[in-house]
This record gives sequence, C-alpha cells and structure tokens, in this order.
Amino acid sequence: MPRPRCTWCIEPPYQDLAVLKWRGEERERLTIPLCRKHLIRLKEAGPAGREFKGWFYKDGWW
Ligand SMILES: [Zn+2]
Repeated sequence: MPRPRCTWCIEPPYQDLAVLKWRGEERERLTIPLCRKHLIRLKEAGPAGREFKGWFYKDGWW
C-alpha cells in the first residue's frame, strides 16, 4: 500500500478538504488530502482559488 500523501506534493496529508475544482465551464466537487502547507495556502487564496496544472481549486464546494 502506498502511503497517503498530499495531492500537490509528497508530504503526508494533514487534513481532507472539500474543494471546488474548475476549468472554464467544467466544475468538479471533490475531497482531496492536503498537507498543512497546501491547506493553509488554499485557505489563504479564498474565493479566487489557486491554479494547479491548468485547474483552479478553492476551499468549499460553492
Ligand atoms: Zn502539499
């Protein structure tokens, strides 16, 4: 079994977070594991969200 890790790096997850992932008109609601650093960064980004590999992510499903 591979060890669980953060969605965006190799750190172990700190918390699962419900996020909205979007690109143009495409919307996806999912729960992703994040390390402490990335969890804080996403929360700090607020409604504008953060871009990762062409997709935007923000805290919360709406
Ligand atoms: Zn991370």
